[in-house]
Formats: sequence, structure tokens, C-alpha cells
Amino acid sequence: MIIGIAAVDRKGAIGKGGKLPWHYSADMKFFRETTTGHAVVMGRKTWLTIGKPLKNRLNIVLSRDTDIEPQESLVVFSDIESVLSFNKSLSTDLFVIGGAQIYEAFREHIEKWIITEVPLTVQGADAFMPKGYLEGFEVVDSKFLDDLRTLSFASTSNKSEN
Ligand code: NDP
Repeated sequence: MIIGIAAVDRKGAIGKGGKLPWHYSADMKFFRETTTGHAVVMGRKTWLTIGKPLKNRLNIVLSRDTDIEPQESLVVFSDIESVLSFNKSLSTDLFVIGGAQIYEAFREHIEKWIITEVPLTVQGADAFMPKGYLEGFEVVDSKFLDDLRTLSFASTSNKSEN
């Protein structure tokens, strides 16, 4: 399954100045536990902020420029179609982990969203979730991570590609 996962503020913001505008350790732990053992796909800018492959996950980076050094647990693709085709050979889920460009690019392929609601309105944010990205999705699960709430949304149409 292709699953989008993000932490989003009250106005849909996800980033500022190339970084996450907050730090919530409970959400980081939730992200790690949810994605471990699976594949994750991210844009080059998010890759730069992370700096090294996320442990115990197959890391896929999207970049039209190929100057990213290949290393263990890291695969680089230059277009979405290659990622979708590669995904068919995976026996794990594929988590779309950002940033804004990558959420937009995978939007029509995402079958489930896992969204942590960040109780802030970040001033000067410059990266946002795609407008209306939850249209056609319904809440199927909700849980609290300390004082943050995480919601899971499933598509109301069958988007499965496999
Ligand atoms: P991205 O991380 O989405 O990376 C963008 C880069 O990805 C582009 O410059 C390009 O790389 C590559 N790319 C994008 N689309 C394609 C495509 N269709 N085919 C091939 N390559 C593609 O950058 P954003 O600026 O959108 O987002 C980064 C921000 O998001 C940061 O602030 C980060 O902290 C935040 N973030 C927040 C998350 C959250 O949950 N709150 C999660 C993840 C990130 P190239 O230029 O090399 O061609």
C-alpha cells in the first residue's frame, strides 16, 4: 500500500526554511515505529534535512539531478513512474514522507494518509500540504501521542495499484 505520512499545523504548514518548524519526540517515535521495516520515499530537500538513510527502512530519494551518492539502504530515482514501478517489486508498504513537492507528486497514488495534527500556526511557513489532499478520504483511526492527535484516513475509492 502507498501511505502518506505527515505532521501538519492548523493551516496545513509542514516546513519552514527547509526544516521541520517543531520538534515533538512522541511524533518522531510514532513515525519511526510506523515506518520501520517498510520503504520510504522522500524528495531531495527532505533527504538533505535528514542527512543519512533512516535506519531499518529502504530509503528512496527522488531527484532529477543524480549527484546523490548511492549508499546502503538508499535508492535514487529521477521520476515518479520509476518509483511506482519499483514499488510493485516491494513486499512492504511504501510510505511517502515528504516534503510538499513529493506529497503533491504522489497525491493521486496515496491510498491512506496518516496525519499528526500539530496544534500550532507557524508564522513564515513555506512548505504546505497540497490543497484539499484529504478530499475523498475518511477517518478510520485516531490516537493520541502525548498531547498530539494522529488521524488515519483511508481512501473512499479503491486506488490500489498492485
Ligand atoms: P521536497 O523534500 O519535496 O524535495 C523537493 C525535491 O525533490 C525537488 O527539488 C526535486 O529534487 C525532487 N523532486 C520533486 N518532485 C520530483 C519529481 N516529480 N520527479 C523527480 N524529482 C522530484 O522539498 P519541499 O521544499 O517541497 O519540502 C521540504 C520541506 O518539507 C522542509 O521544510 C521539510 O522539513 C518539510 N517536511 C515536513 C514534513 C512534515 O511531516 N511536517 C515531512 C517531510 C518534509 P532535485 O532538485 O534534486 O531535482
